[in-house]
Amino acid sequence: MGIFLIAVLLGLIPAAIAKGKGRSFGAWWLYGAALFIVALPHSLLMRSSPSGIERQHLADGMKKCQHCAEFIKQDANVCRYCGRDVKLAA
Ligand SMILES: [Zn+2]
Repeated sequence: MGIFLIAVLLGLIPAAIAKGKGRSFGAWWLYGAALFIVALPHSLLMRSSPSGIERQHLADGMKKCQHCAEFIKQDANVCRYCGRDVKLAA
């Protein structure tokens, strides 16, 4: 029981790293709990998934600036990256 609990807690570390890179938190949690020694360096070394990060931003209610393609807040009128006006309707 103790070892199982430790594995579950340790699995949260690569899961959190993977989620930051746009990957599935749940899948990486299982992976990290089962194979922490492998999953931790794997999560640190892997490249972030651009489409995953994009999905995550859209899920967080962000929109894409039509000028510079950076993600900005849904309510923004001016892009905080390029400083240009952004249309209200995304
Ligand atoms: Zn912009």
